[in-house]
Amino acid sequence: MAEFDPHVLEEKAVLPPVEFSRHARVRSLEEYRALYQRAQEDPAGFWSEQAELLHWFTPPTEVLVWNPPHARWFHDGTLNVSYNCLDRHVQLHPKKPALLWEAEDGKRLALTYTDLYEKTCRCANALKKLGVKSGDCVTIYMPMIPELAVAMLACARIGAMHSVVFGGFSAPALSDRMLDAKSRVLITADGGYRRGRIIPLKETADSALEKCPGVEKVLVVRRTGEKVNWNEGRDVWWHELVDASSSLAPAEPFPAEHPLFILYTSGTTGKPKGVLHTSAGYLMQCMWSTRMVFDLREEDVYWCTADIGWVTGHSYIVYGPLASGATVVMYEGAPDYPGRDRFWQIIGRYKVSIFYSSATAVRAFMSWGNAYLEKHDLSSLRLLGTVGEPINPAAWKWYHAIVGKGRCPIVDTWWQTETGSILISPLPGATPAKAGSATLPLPGVIARVLRMNGEEVPPGETGYLVIEQPWPSMMRTIYGDDERYRRDYWNRIPGKYFTGDAAQRDQDGYIWVLGRVDDVIKVAGHRLSSMEIESALVSHAAVAEAAVVSRPDDIKGEAIVVFCTLRSGHEASEELRVLVCEHVASVIGTIARPAEVRFADLLPKTRSGKIMRRLLRELAQKGSVSGDTTTLEDFSSIEKLAQEIGHDEE
Ligand code: ATP
Ligand code: MG
Repeated sequence: MAEFDPHVLEEKAVLPPVEFSRHARVRSLEEYRALYQRAQEDPAGFWSEQAELLHWFTPPTEVLVWNPPHARWFHDGTLNVSYNCLDRHVQLHPKKPALLWEAEDGKRLALTYTDLYEKTCRCANALKKLGVKSGDCVTIYMPMIPELAVAMLACARIGAMHSVVFGGFSAPALSDRMLDAKSRVLITADGGYRRGRIIPLKETADSALEKCPGVEKVLVVRRTGEKVNWNEGRDVWWHELVDASSSLAPAEPFPAEHPLFILYTSGTTGKPKGVLHTSAGYLMQCMWSTRMVFDLREEDVYWCTADIGWVTGHSYIVYGPLASGATVVMYEGAPDYPGRDRFWQIIGRYKVSIFYSSATAVRAFMSWGNAYLEKHDLSSLRLLGTVGEPINPAAWKWYHAIVGKGRCPIVDTWWQTETGSILISPLPGATPAKAGSATLPLPGVIARVLRMNGEEVPPGETGYLVIEQPWPSMMRTIYGDDERYRRDYWNRIPGKYFTGDAAQRDQDGYIWVLGRVDDVIKVAGHRLSSMEIESALVSHAAVAEAAVVSRPDDIKGEAIVVFCTLRSGHEASEELRVLVCEHVASVIGTIARPAEVRFADLLPKTRSGKIMRRLLRELAQKGSVSGDTTTLEDFSSIEKLAQEIGHDEE
């Protein structure tokens, strides 16, 4: 079968800035390759060396026990995750800022490592008073306030698992997750702020709790001061219990494989599943990758804009950076509140040097225009990162030129909730970047692009992205459903970890993640990825964001349907529709010419900002949506699209 020749793979390499490489941890492609080879030849030796990054109460004597698909890393070692994130830094530099928090209303709070340590100890003691024991699972449903990080670290300190549920989720989503995790304790707040409005978290939690009789205690942070319903005997104020508890809580040793947290995936592909991560391997690889990928140094001011409710926030706001003793900026609110320059203002104010955000955010910044950046001082930036979706080359170039002023390397980091930490990414001082590619696997990671029968696909053809060997921060199972863990991840291509993503490798061995396996479109025998067509669309001056899906077509097999939003200053029109189709045909080829283009105000996204093509596909094929929408950010976007389509068909 003739395979399509994809143009996005022809991006030219952009070398790391010389100045950056000079001081980087890994300074050249040769150094990276040597490291990679070492790890490949002796994975146990390599990872056991990295395990020295951690503080162990009992150092492990064995690296890996691998009973596929179950891995146990460093299993006879003992440690305390919160000790690694706090106590050891308090001993070294007690006054170093750990969290620089900014509220949406502009209020600021700086917590040193000592402050964070004391708050965590108080919270750990409070949780014990509420009856929390090692092995229990505490659900956390909170806004982006420092108490959220404190609560997670306090759970880790006493050996309890946490399950953080994003503060934007509805009552049914929260109760499903509390029931699945069998939580007896919930930590929440009276409310949170988003674009100046109050999000009534306690009210939502109260209604979720009606379905969760197993939850005995609810610990509530006072954030907004609004009046809330109070269930005497069940509800406890944080400021009464935690603040009155002792600031000394010895960190007990736990086994390396002690469960650390459950995190439910965002659900772009169906029913949420509770991904289970354990202690040592996860923490080590988060810490190691933070140092390698972000080239973290002592003096950096590091800001990851994700919500802690997602894995990015777990691994790269809390565990990776704090285990590394970094100074971390944490922001409570929205990027466009009160103005669309809020992020640039924060970068200027704190002199942020490492900025890690999502592909979807970069596309939004680009569509808002450059004026918002111009009045702010971004000269402190030295490295930019992106995650979450493939970043379209046009957005990458904008990020590089306008935010990074051509000075800052960009790390396009590929990973998943399931992988725990970044697996594929440039090393900023070593790997020549290509706009839109996550580039090469990190040392210790064997990534391949295969056919379903396990054969390697040749460069330039689409296949399934798999990981061949276990890695320390890998998920251990799906909580309560080990059979699904086996089936979904290890039995598709037997013995290999199946990521569910489609990808290509180019001539240089670079990996181009093209989106999910389900998002590959077959037109007249050609396999096109939604990402390639979307990238062509986003490179048109009028298009802000695009989602491409297919519907069945009698002649071609599948026909391409485009949903797109426009950049400020552009209006939807018939002419534009034609121009956009022409543009795709000229960039990629007539085979990719869309059969339909729909302009929309908003695209349906998960709450973590990913486009939900699953819903758009349903809409394009059936004209309406019946699938699970509990993780959708704004239901009105899909309703408006459905109306527009219904209207057109009349
Ligand atoms: P669900 O698994 O429930 O559908 P999700 O996959 O959106 O949810 P995450 O684990 O947060 O939840 O996202 C991981 C996915 O995000 C990857 O499998 C990949 O599709 C995409 N992704 C993440 N980073 C990148 C990147 N740098 N380039 C391309 N795709 C990326
Ligand atoms: Mg996924």
